[in-house]
Amino acid sequence: MHKYNDLIPIYEWLPSFNKNKLLIIAGPCSIETEYDTINIFKEIKNTNIVDIIRAGIWKPRTKPGSFEGSGIEGLKWLNKAKDIYNMPIAIEVANASHVKEAIKYNVDIIWIGARTTVNPFSMQEIADVLNGIDIPVMIKNPVNPDLDLWIGGIERIYNAGIKKIAAIHRGFSLKDNTPFRNMPLFDIVNKLSDKIPNLPIICDPSHIAGNSNLISFIAQKSIEYNKTDGLMIECHSNPEKAWTDAKQQITPKMLLNIINAIKKYSDNDDFIEINVLRDKINNIDYDLLNKIAKRMQLSKLVGKYKKHNKISIQQPDYWKEMLSKKIQYSNTLNLNENFIKIIMQMIHSESVEIQKYNI
Ligand code: PEP
Ligand code: MN
Repeated sequence: MHKYNDLIPIYEWLPSFNKNKLLIIAGPCSIETEYDTINIFKEIKNTNIVDIIRAGIWKPRTKPGSFEGSGIEGLKWLNKAKDIYNMPIAIEVANASHVKEAIKYNVDIIWIGARTTVNPFSMQEIADVLNGIDIPVMIKNPVNPDLDLWIGGIERIYNAGIKKIAAIHRGFSLKDNTPFRNMPLFDIVNKLSDKIPNLPIICDPSHIAGNSNLISFIAQKSIEYNKTDGLMIECHSNPEKAWTDAKQQITPKMLLNIINAIKKYSDNDDFIEINVLRDKINNIDYDLLNKIAKRMQLSKLVGKYKKHNKISIQQPDYWKEMLSKKIQYSNTLNLNENFIKIIMQMIHSESVEIQKYNI
């Protein structure tokens, strides 16, 4: 039998999961207080769309001195809330002792964070303690875009006998001018699916976006570009007041809107609802911005070429010819000619500026 053929499909992990639906994992970045834990469980349960509640117990912080999670105390609150609301729970583990505590406190699913997947020693330590234990494990991509390192981490967990494994795409740290906290690399995820076809894929749009406004866009892209089995979204009763990742958390109500909108896109439903339409418009705007950024990059290369070959930046005849072709084309799309003229002129003049000053 081919390695990984015996991985268990995600909808069989827990009896409450449903085969024909996107798995939704939602919950706070961090567990903060007992009161807030019980409250967020209540709110999430009421949405009726969440399959697992996620929660951070030990937080990997970039700098020391900030809130590092509520630890065992938090696990106790989590356990209490789980019992009251009868919701499965998932937490992040980063070492062997976290795994032992997770098992002790009836955690249903564990995940390994991006800063842990990157370290083979940590992955092996976790794999060793998991040997002989039956708990589903989700493995986030490493912080750097290294597919082999991601697969290596998955293999260590698989070799420990775990058959309920999923990969989570949370984006990659690229110090690049992107609108995202962590750059989504959908190609890498597709390559992972090519290598391990029956590995469930979860997208974590919250850590990709770093910003609540971009979550629906990323979730949608993940569904369009990857084989996406589920979404993991950070959810907080009062995101602005969250102790960690305040900018990217959303309320359970916002979660409901986003998930309903996604469902509507994928069903190709023409249901007219303002939030759905606005989401669609915002997604198109982000597409436009991405395209403009790409165009400017290309324009920079043209600028370099012109400089190298001592060609002047402004080429009025070429520009007029291109502009008239684009206006002709826009007529076929029923777009207002003057409006298109203005947009094209603005883009062109920004390109000229970049070629003049930014090379
Ligand atoms: C988290 O899920 O809260 C987290 C710390 O994520 P990541 O490992 O993707 O940074
Ligand atoms: Mn977080």
